[in-house]
Order: sequence, then C-alpha cells, then structure tokens
Amino acid sequence: MSMDLTFLGTGSAYPSPHRGASALVLRTEGDCWLFDCGEGTQTQLMKSQLKASRITKVFITHLHGDHLFGLPGLLCTVSLNLSPSPTQPPACVDIYGPQGLRHFLRVALSLSGSQLLFPYAVHELEPTADQCPPDSQLAAMLDSSFSESLHPQERPGRTIPLDVTRDCYTLLEDERFVVVAFRLFHRLPSFGFSVQERDRSGRLNTQLLRDLGVKPGPIYGRLKGGESVTLENGRVLTPDEVLEESVPGRKVCVLGDCSALVGEGPLWACQGADVLVHEATLADGHRERAVEHGHSTPSMAAEVARACRARKLVLYHFSQRYKPLSLCTEGEEDDVTELRRQAEEALQGMGMEVVLADDFLTIPIPIKRLH
Ligand SMILES: [Zn+2]
Ligand SMILES: [Zn+2]
Repeated sequence: MSMDLTFLGTGSAYPSPHRGASALVLRTEGDCWLFDCGEGTQTQLMKSQLKASRITKVFITHLHGDHLFGLPGLLCTVSLNLSPSPTQPPACVDIYGPQGLRHFLRVALSLSGSQLLFPYAVHELEPTADQCPPDSQLAAMLDSSFSESLHPQERPGRTIPLDVTRDCYTLLEDERFVVVAFRLFHRLPSFGFSVQERDRSGRLNTQLLRDLGVKPGPIYGRLKGGESVTLENGRVLTPDEVLEESVPGRKVCVLGDCSALVGEGPLWACQGADVLVHEATLADGHRERAVEHGHSTPSMAAEVARACRARKLVLYHFSQRYKPLSLCTEGEEDDVTELRRQAEEALQGMGMEVVLADDFLTIPIPIKRLH
C-alpha cells in the first residue's frame, strides 16, 4: 500500500506568497487525511496533485489561526464540488482537534449560512491544565452563551478524555491503523498525532503448500490465522512453515506547535517513528524567543526525534523570515539550510535523516523491508 506525506503549507503565523500556513496531507491508497488547515489551504490543495474531495479525516493540532482558519472555507469548497450520488449518501468527514473546535466550526458555518452536502462530526480532545500558560485557559470562554444546537449537517462527535494509563488519546482503531493523540505545551493547548499502520501478516507460500499436497480450502485460512493443522497423513503443519515474514506497519507522527512535550505520552506514541514531523519556527540562536512564544528550534526538535529514535525528522512551521530553498540566495542572512544544519549537528552520529519541508514537498513512506 502506497503512503506519502505532502506539505501544503510550511510557514508560521500567516500564509505568505512563499510559504502557506500549516497544512499537510497523509495519503494512503487515495484516502487523504489532512493535518491542520491554515488560511489558504484550499488554494494550496488546488495547486497540488491532491484532491480536496478525497479528504476523509481532518486532524487539528491546536486552535491558533495559522492552523485552523482555512477549515470552514475548505469544507464549503469541498461541498460545492461534490456531485452527490443518488444511491450512496456522502460519507461523514471526521474532524479531530482540541476542545473548542466544535464551537468554532458550528459558529463559523452557521453564522455564514453555510450548508454542506455531506455530514461532519467533530471529536474533541480534552486538554489538561499543564498544556499552556494559565492566562490561556479556554474553559472560561467555553461555558458562555455558545449555541448548543448542532449545525444541520453536524453529527454528534465524541469527547475524548486523556487515557491516563497510556497518557494518550485514542482516536481511531480499525483494521489498518491505530491513531492516537498526545499532549504538547504551547501558548494554547496543542496536540501531536501518531498514525501507526498495523503489521500485515505474511503471505501464505502456496507453492510449498501444493508441494505438500495441501489443496486450497479452509485449511489455508486456519494457517493464515496462526493455527497449526494436522494433515491427513498425520503431519502437523505449523504456520511459520508456510507463512512468509510479516510486514511491519509504518508510523508517521505529526506534532503541533510546541516548546515542550507534556507527560510520557509523546515519547511512547512516537517511539520508532518512520517519519517525525516537528516544528522549528526559529533558529537555535533565537531559542529564548522561540520558547517564550511556545515554539521550538531545530536542536529542540532534534532532541525529540532522538528520544523517539525516529528514522527521519522533517522540520516545518518556519518563521516567514526563512525563505524556501528555491528562493534562497548565497550568503542570505536568514538561511533556511542553517536550520537543517543545526538539527543535524544536534543529531550527530545518529544517522537520522533531516529534511526541510517546503510547500508541495512530497515524502514517500515506503513499506518496511525486514532484510
Ligand atoms: Zn503556528
Ligand atoms: Zn500556535
């Protein structure tokens, strides 16, 4: 199964002509999952090879505008371009994000009189008080007079509390993926997401089975399911004799804005990530300012990647002062390649690849081979 990650916006604070605001898409077999949706994400999508209509799930790391302001508009445009099938009702778009996201969308869509041709549901993560400074707590704003009635296309969403045993939020578990969220520290409660593909059991060696005189039938299913079977001649056949090696699932982790991790959840959820996407808003020389604004520098991102033993670190969410690689000139004062160098230096000897994200960069995530 093919899997890749495409960056639609890699700038912080606002979209500029050179860097869009935060948004990236994880694509698996044509299914697109959108992570963050800054202003202008829909036009970035149109410029990319991706189709907005393929977005089935949206994950919002936190409620700052550069990660969220594009969402109502994107949903409306997807709806405009939808040609409803007379036989099949449109699927519900599941949106995951921090507490407050449901109200934001409900109010934005309702006040603008926006109707969608598909249903949506917002599943909210309950933040904890240690995810942001005390003056940024949201609770007081939320208990006021917000409308409690659902938007016409809104379906009731889940409210997901922190699972204290694992220090994570379980968002989704199906036959292909397990998706969890974890806590980060920022000016507003921020989250990261870990998408773990399930391991795939190895294929049956049908040639060997035929050589042993075993004909296709329920026996194949039992072996594939891990059961030993006794053949007519009394021979006991174990699954590992006829099953090829299983293929380990891939893991992709996307962290929202942060100056620190909160709790044990992030390291547990991101352990062994094939790709770890981490912000690096400012260079190491501006570390104090970065942390003051709830952000990270390249060496801070590298520390997280090192602790997780990630295979590849992708830096994004750059201050707009850092121009994309293609626009950099020799001797530039704010040279974005300096950010990669700083992360590489912090990771010396780890053999981890560091990538600078640019708008429209696609990173393939190949199937893992054991040997
Ligand atoms: Zn941001
Ligand atoms: Zn932010």
